[in-house]
Amino acid sequence: MAAACAPRLAVAETPGAPDSFPEREALYYSVLEGGGVQCRLCPRQCVIPDRQRGSCGVRENRGGRLFTLVYNRPCAGNTDPIEKKPLFHVLPGTQAYSIATAGCNIHCKFCQNWDISQVRPETIPTRSMNADAIVQAARDHGTRAIAYTYNEPTIFYEYLADCARAGNAAGLYSVMISNGYIQAEPQAALLPLLKAVKVDLKAFTEKFYAEICEGALAPVLDSLQRIHRHGTWLEIVVLLIPTLNDSVPELQRMTEWVVTQLGPDVPIHFTRFQPTYQLRGLPPTPSDTLLKARQIAIQAGCHFAYTGNVPGLEGQDTICPACKKTVVRRYGYQIRENRITGGKCEFCGAVIPGVWS
Ligand code: SF4
Repeated sequence: MAAACAPRLAVAETPGAPDSFPEREALYYSVLEGGGVQCRLCPRQCVIPDRQRGSCGVRENRGGRLFTLVYNRPCAGNTDPIEKKPLFHVLPGTQAYSIATAGCNIHCKFCQNWDISQVRPETIPTRSMNADAIVQAARDHGTRAIAYTYNEPTIFYEYLADCARAGNAAGLYSVMISNGYIQAEPQAALLPLLKAVKVDLKAFTEKFYAEICEGALAPVLDSLQRIHRHGTWLEIVVLLIPTLNDSVPELQRMTEWVVTQLGPDVPIHFTRFQPTYQLRGLPPTPSDTLLKARQIAIQAGCHFAYTGNVPGLEGQDTICPACKKTVVRRYGYQIRENRITGGKCEFCGAVIPGVWS
C-alpha cells in the first residue's frame, strides 16, 4: 500500500490459533464439487481446497464453507488526519479513526505495511473489536469518520461493511483506502455505504502489476470506472517509483485515461516512494519527478493534480480551476487556509468538487 505506515493498537492480545478466531462465514463464494470453494470477492477468484486459504491468507475453506478469519479482529487502530490518506477533497482538517487487519489480495514489493499486509492473522497481535466498539472508539477520539486502510480493506469486507453500517447509523462516515482490487458485485453492495474511496493506481502497465504486485491492471481500471459511475467520491494516488513506473509516456497515458474515462475533476496525487520491504535498492523519488508528473497531469486536463509525501513541495494546495486562486492551502497534513464555503470557491463562486459538509 502507498498509504501511511500503520500504527499498532495500543492494547493488543496475544496471537492465537486460527481455529480460536470467531467464526464468520464469508460472503461471495461458490461451492465446488469435491469440497472446494471459489471466492468471488476479488479478481483473483481463488479456488480453495478444504482447510486451505486464498491468496490473501485470511479466507479459509472449512468443510466446504468459506470463513473470514479477520472479522472483528483489527491489528491496527489510530486517529489520522484525512489528509494522510490522502483525501484532499473530503472535509479538510478532520480526523478519521483508522483500522486494518492482517492480509492483502496483492503482494507489492514496495509495501510500507508489509508486516501486517503480507502476514497471516494468527502471526500478529490483534484485538477483539466489533462494529459497535469501532464506532465507540471513533467517537472517543473525536473523529467524524472511520477509515479502512493500511492493508487492503476488500479482504476484510464483512467487517468493513458492518462497521460502515454502524458508523452511518451513528453519524460517522466511512472512507476506504484501497488498491481497487474488488469484483463488481461486492463493490456495488459496498459503495452506497461509503462516503469516499481512495484508490492506489500502482502503475499503468500490466507488466508492473504482474512483476511488482502479483496483480493485474485491467481489473483496477474497471473498478475505478465503477466507482466513478456510482458517484462515490474518488481520489487516485500514484506512488512514483524511480525507473519502474515514472516514465513520461506512461504518465501521459495514465493521466489521459483518467481525464477521458473518469473526467477532469478526479484528484490525482503523485507521491514519493521511500525504499522499503523488497525494493530497498532504489532511491527515493526525486522532487522533480513529482513536479513533472503533476505538470503532465495538468497538461492532460486534470483539474486537481497534487504532489505528496514531501512537505512544503509545490503542488499540495487546491487551486480553483475557474479563477486560479488558491482555495485550500496545505503544509504536510495541516490545513493553513480553507477558502471553500458551501462547496464553492469564495473568490469566484465556482463549484469545487468534493465532500465539504
Ligand atoms: S479475497 Fe482472498 S480468497 Fe478471495 S479471491 Fe481475493 S485473494 Fe482470493
